[in-house]
Amino acid sequence: MQTRILQPGEIESLAHTSFPRILLPQPQALFGDRAARLQQLAEGNPIADYLRLLARLVQAQKQAASTVQTTPVAPETIARHQEFSMPLMPATDHIDPAWQKVLAALLDQVQPAAEVPAALLPTLDTLRQQTPQALDALAQRVLSSSLEASDLGAAPFVAAALQVVFADRASRLDAADVPYTDPGTLCPVCASQPVASVLRIGGNMAGHRYLHCGVCCTEWHMVRVKCSHCESTKGIRYQGVEGGSQVVQAETCPECHTYRKLVNQEKDPLAEPLADDLGSLLLDLLMGETDFERASANPLLALLPTASPTVPATETSA
Ligand SMILES: [Zn+2]
Ligand SMILES: [Zn+2]
Repeated sequence: MQTRILQPGEIESLAHTSFPRILLPQPQALFGDRAARLQQLAEGNPIADYLRLLARLVQAQKQAASTVQTTPVAPETIARHQEFSMPLMPATDHIDPAWQKVLAALLDQVQPAAEVPAALLPTLDTLRQQTPQALDALAQRVLSSSLEASDLGAAPFVAAALQVVFADRASRLDAADVPYTDPGTLCPVCASQPVASVLRIGGNMAGHRYLHCGVCCTEWHMVRVKCSHCESTKGIRYQGVEGGSQVVQAETCPECHTYRKLVNQEKDPLAEPLADDLGSLLLDLLMGETDFERASANPLLALLPTASPTVPATETSA
């Protein structure tokens, strides 16, 4: 192989363009950071009790992630999905059987905790008594966003167990295995929707925006000028809570009339997409009074009580 010395200008342009396209999850660190962030966000938060309950659940995810054993994605599957530019393991078709054991482990950890309200205990008992077939059917409803009213209490626990197995499988991939897929608004690993996007700091990710998958926790790059839901580049704007820290802003798109939150690590290095999305419920209440609908749900949100305080908005252009 021939080598040649790069000129300074070339080195600069290489450094500028060589940011990672895909950030695969490191599950134990991810869940550990997320649990700590949820505890932090609970301070003075109107939904503090709920955030502390979730911190407990995410801490249990971290523990489960240290022992879970999933089946790796087969090399033939990777090759075929790369050839056809398809996501590697569309979630509803690739539920690893280990998820039910993870669910049982999460319930063992969380159910006795002081953070669990008494009103939730019957729901968790019912969840434990489900047959494997009924649990798989419930997992399908969680992953395809087709929940029934009676699923709501159990859904965050099911989603948490599924995250552990999907994040584990994703963590064992190589970033180069992940296909370039279209549309760019769905996870290239599991074809799920992003829960939020994050403006990252540190290393060669600095200043780049990534969409964070709500199921397998993979992050993939998308330029900020594009809507993270329809990829339109027209009229993207940001809206935050007046007087707030602006760590979390709602990115709004006039083409598809949706919003999705952008979590900005430049404003707070500890910001974490899923946790900060949950911790900024006020912003959702504010957005509820606009014409923009939330683009996708937070998988751990189904237990939230409904309340509607009114908060003033500020608007800044993209
Ligand atoms: Zn995913
Ligand atoms: Zn859009």
